[in-house]
Amino acid sequence: MNAWEKGFFEGLKPQKLITVNEWADKYRVLSSRGSSEPGKFRTDRTPYLTEPMKELSTGSLTQRVVLMLGSQLGKTELMNNFTGYCIDFAPGAMLLCEPTLQMAARLSKQRLEPMLQETPCLAKKIPPPRSRDSGNSQFAKVFPGGVLILTGANSAASLKSMPAKYIGLDEVDSYPGDLDGEGDPVALAEKRASTFTKRKILLTSTPTIKDFSRIEAEYENSDQRKFYVPAPCCGAFQVLNFDQLRWEDKDINTVKYECEVCKERFDETAKTTMLRKGEWRATNKEYKGKTAGFWLNGLASPYGWFSWAEMVEEFLKAKDDPALMRTWTNTRKAETFSYEYQSKLNAEALLEIRENYLPGEIPKEVVCLCMGVDVQGGMGSATQRLEASLWGFAPDPSGIAEQMYLIDHSVIYGDPNQAEVWKGLDILLTQTFKHPDGGKLKISSCAVDSGGLATQSVYDYCTKRKGQGVIAIKGSSRGGVPLIGKGSRVDINYSGRIKKKSGVVYIINTEDIKDRIFSKIKSKEKIHFHAETTEDYFKELTGEYRTQKTNKKGYPVSTYEKKPNQAVEKLDCCVYAYAGYSLLLKTVPKGLFFTNYAKKLLNNTNLNTKNTLRSRQKPQKSSYVTNW
Ligand SMILES: [Zn+2]
Repeated sequence: MNAWEKGFFEGLKPQKLITVNEWADKYRVLSSRGSSEPGKFRTDRTPYLTEPMKELSTGSLTQRVVLMLGSQLGKTELMNNFTGYCIDFAPGAMLLCEPTLQMAARLSKQRLEPMLQETPCLAKKIPPPRSRDSGNSQFAKVFPGGVLILTGANSAASLKSMPAKYIGLDEVDSYPGDLDGEGDPVALAEKRASTFTKRKILLTSTPTIKDFSRIEAEYENSDQRKFYVPAPCCGAFQVLNFDQLRWEDKDINTVKYECEVCKERFDETAKTTMLRKGEWRATNKEYKGKTAGFWLNGLASPYGWFSWAEMVEEFLKAKDDPALMRTWTNTRKAETFSYEYQSKLNAEALLEIRENYLPGEIPKEVVCLCMGVDVQGGMGSATQRLEASLWGFAPDPSGIAEQMYLIDHSVIYGDPNQAEVWKGLDILLTQTFKHPDGGKLKISSCAVDSGGLATQSVYDYCTKRKGQGVIAIKGSSRGGVPLIGKGSRVDINYSGRIKKKSGVVYIINTEDIKDRIFSKIKSKEKIHFHAETTEDYFKELTGEYRTQKTNKKGYPVSTYEKKPNQAVEKLDCCVYAYAGYSLLLKTVPKGLFFTNYAKKLLNNTNLNTKNTLRSRQKPQKSSYVTNW
C-alpha cells in the first residue's frame, strides 16, 4: 500500500462527528508566529465565530457561508480552523483563494504554515516543507485523503484546475470582476465544487463600495444573520451599532454605549459578557436557500483587541476626509461606502456664503499664502494663458479641519512657451500683503501644473525659482498615493541632453485633494470666499463630480468627471494651491518655503506644528487596513 492509498483508507475510518469549533478548541494551538495571543485556541474569545464554524462543519446542511466582517474580528483564524478541520477531520480536496497569488503566498507562509507545524495532529499529516518529496510546497499541501491548493483570484488557470469539495474565498471584494475574459473568479472557483453534494464554500470580505461590493450582494442573497447581544442594563437584545456610542466633546475616554431600549449608558467592560450571551438571528425570514450569511462590525471586536474608544478616535480623524472615511466605513462599520456621486454643490447657493473681505485682503486667521497655477498652452492665442488662484490657509492641529480663504484669482494671457506670460506670473509672485496683525505676508508656495502642452517651459520656470517655493506638479489619479509626493527629477532639456541642474516634479493625488476641497465646500465652514467672487467662479470650482465606473478588468473605480461643457480651471488652481500647502506642512520643521512673517504667525497660533507632524508620522496603533 503506498502513502496515497494508506491515506485514503485512513480517511475512511469512522470518527465521532465534531464541528469546526469543537475541533479548534480540542486541537488548535496558536503559534507565537501567527498570533498575538499564543497558546491553546479558545473559541470563546470570539463567541460570534462559533455559529459560522458550525455551519462549515460536515453535520450542517449549509453549503455556503458568507461573512461580511470588519477587520480585527478573528476572520483569519476562522479560515484557519476551517482549513485544519478539512485536513484533519473531514479530508477532501480544498481550494483556498486570496485576491492575488502574492497574497496567497503570504498567507501560506505567515498564517497557514505556523498552524500546520504547531498543531500536532496537523503536523503529523503534513510534513514540513523542508523535507524532500513531502508534498508540501507553498501553493500545494498533500495530506492523507486530500490536497490543499492555494491560489490567487488573478490566476484563471489555477481557479479552473481541479474539483474541490471545500472552497475558501478570502477578501472577495478585492477580486477582479472578469478574469481574462473567462468570467467571474468567484463563479469559476465555485464551479470546482459543483459535483459535491456535501460541499462547503466560505466567502469572506470586508465590504467596499456600494453597488459594487460582492460580499454585500452575497450577504443580501442569504438568510442575513445579525448578532444580537443583551444589554447589561435591561437585558434587551440589540445589534451593536456605532450610532449608539456617546462621548463628551473630543474626549474619547468618555465613550459609552447607549442602550436602544432603556437609554442607560454602559461602558466597554460589559462587552465580554454580552458577546458570550449573544446570538445570531436570521433577518431574511423568507430565505429558503443553503447560504448562511453573517454580518458583524468592529464594535464586537473582543475586549482588549480593538476598543470602542479607538473606533471613535478613528472616526474623528476620518470624518472630514472621504478617502479615510471610506476605509473606516468598510473596515470598522463593515458597511459599504457610498460617494455622493452627483455633486449637490450649486454655484448659485454658494454666492450666499461669500464673506465681507475684499479680493487681495488677508483675513486675520490666514497664516500662509499658496498659489495654484493652471497652464493653458493650446494652439489658439485667444485661449493661451495662465490662471492663478491665491489661497490663504489657517492650519489646524488636527491637520484636517484647516481653513481655506480665496484671496484672489488672476488670468495672464499669452503663450506659455514664450517668456512674456511668465513675467506676468513673476509680478504676481512678488506681491506682499498686509496682514491685519500688522506684518507683511509673502506668498509661501506656488504650484504650477506641468501636465499641459508647455511642460518644459514650466520646468524651466520652476527650477529657477525653487528658492521662492515655486514647484512643478503633475496630477495623478492613481489611488493610494500621498497628497503630494517626494518629487522626482526631470533631467532632460529641450535638446534631449541631461541637464546638470535638473528640475523636480511633484506628483499630486488630485482625487484625494478634490475630496477634501468638496467636503469643505459642502460643510460651508472650512472654506471662505471674498465678497466679489462671481457665479462663474463658483461654477468652475464645482465643475466636477465624483462618479463610478468599472474598468476593463471589472474593478470598480470611482473618479472625478467634468460636468458637460464646463471649464474647471478654477478648481484645478485650487487643487494645485492645496498641493503646495500640503508640501509646506510636510516641511514645517524645516520651514522650507514659509516666509519669515508666515513662520512668525505660525509660532503665534496654537498650532504646535512639530508635534502635529510627529504624531501624524507615527504609525497608528490600530492602523487602517485597506483593500485597495
Ligand atoms: Zn437597556
